[in-house]
Amino acid sequence: MNPTDGFGTRAIHAGQSPDPTTGAIMPPVYMTSTYVQEAPGVIKGYDYSRTCNPTRTALEANIAGIEKGRHGLCFASGMAAINTVLNLLKSDDHVVASNDLYGGTYRICTTLYQKFGVEFSFIDMSSQDALRAAVRGNTRLVMTESPSNPLLRLTDLAAVAELCRERGILSMCDNTFATPYLQNPLDHGIDVVIHSTTKYLGGHSDVVGGALVTNDDDLRQRLAHFQNTVGGTPGPMDCFLVLRGTKTLHVRMDRHAANAEQIARDLEAHPKVRRVYYPGLPSHPQFELAQRQMRNGGGMVSFVLDASVEDAMAVTSRFRLFALAESLGGVESLVDHPASMTHGSIPREERIAAGFEDGLIRLSVGIEDLDDLRADVAAALATLGS
Ligand SMILES: *Cc1c(COP(=O)(O)O)cnc(C)c1O
Repeated sequence: MNPTDGFGTRAIHAGQSPDPTTGAIMPPVYMTSTYVQEAPGVIKGYDYSRTCNPTRTALEANIAGIEKGRHGLCFASGMAAINTVLNLLKSDDHVVASNDLYGGTYRICTTLYQKFGVEFSFIDMSSQDALRAAVRGNTRLVMTESPSNPLLRLTDLAAVAELCRERGILSMCDNTFATPYLQNPLDHGIDVVIHSTTKYLGGHSDVVGGALVTNDDDLRQRLAHFQNTVGGTPGPMDCFLVLRGTKTLHVRMDRHAANAEQIARDLEAHPKVRRVYYPGLPSHPQFELAQRQMRNGGGMVSFVLDASVEDAMAVTSRFRLFALAESLGGVESLVDHPASMTHGSIPREERIAAGFEDGLIRLSVGIEDLDDLRADVAAALATLGS
């Protein structure tokens, strides 16, 4: 790759080269668990597919290329990727994390790592004062998501990275919502980026996967050690599917964002909508940071209706095109009621304290025709109170 290559060029070419034996332009799906050795220990770079597999290598280099990092590591799920970062900790270490994290990330912290004596503080990561106040002598890791899920709050990544660097703390950013096309946390000084490739990178709701990207050689070694030791690695077919997705990421993201921005504007103008969360709208409290840190507002929109929780929940099953389902980032539009679906593992008091209301509705705006999506939202909201 040429270092000045643009995003689309990197998405299509990073880590990709024709197969040396046949010239196949697409990386073959290497369905093999082991590799024949010429003599004991004499290998052609591959010995066992938990450790490495050529289809995975092609994906790892591709994701590193689009995320502007030196090293990529791929996993069987986003949670396996997050777990690998948490594997770096030991008992009595302290972690500061956002208080509106992906529900599964909150759950792995509180039901698994707390059991082993790792301490967690969940804070509003959009406030640097809150972060400064939460950091202790034994803080080893700061975990953030920007935009966060489901409140679409932003973290000033450069500010978090700088504070972490000063104190010798590892910084991690979950970049699943923004994707490498909208923002590159490593450029802001973040140490490690995680992705659920299940979402926009895969992009077609047909595969579950995860990835880590870092520029730090030593950190890459330590993460690769646990990747191989724990074994939450993806199969070659899954790698192939994600790779097929990353190549069109830029084209899809522009459409996701254009559709989402108009839907967000429509919601904001709707008399039955009390509040809209979308980083691409001037009404977002961190609009200025979004303009600086992200290419556009992305494809996710959350909103609160001026209605009872029961009515809000009922609305979620009245869409024609937005399917009521967990997950996000596929080409098709989805609607989610986070309190009862994706974020059910977060205790209600903690959700409410974080400003996340029971009636909140989250949309993953797909790349269908905008007019059809707008009509669908209008029709679903028109049923309110009837
Ligand atoms: C889905 C998701 C995860 C977890 O990824 P899986 O692939 O489902 O394991 C982590 N973070 C965010 C922001 C997500 O949306």
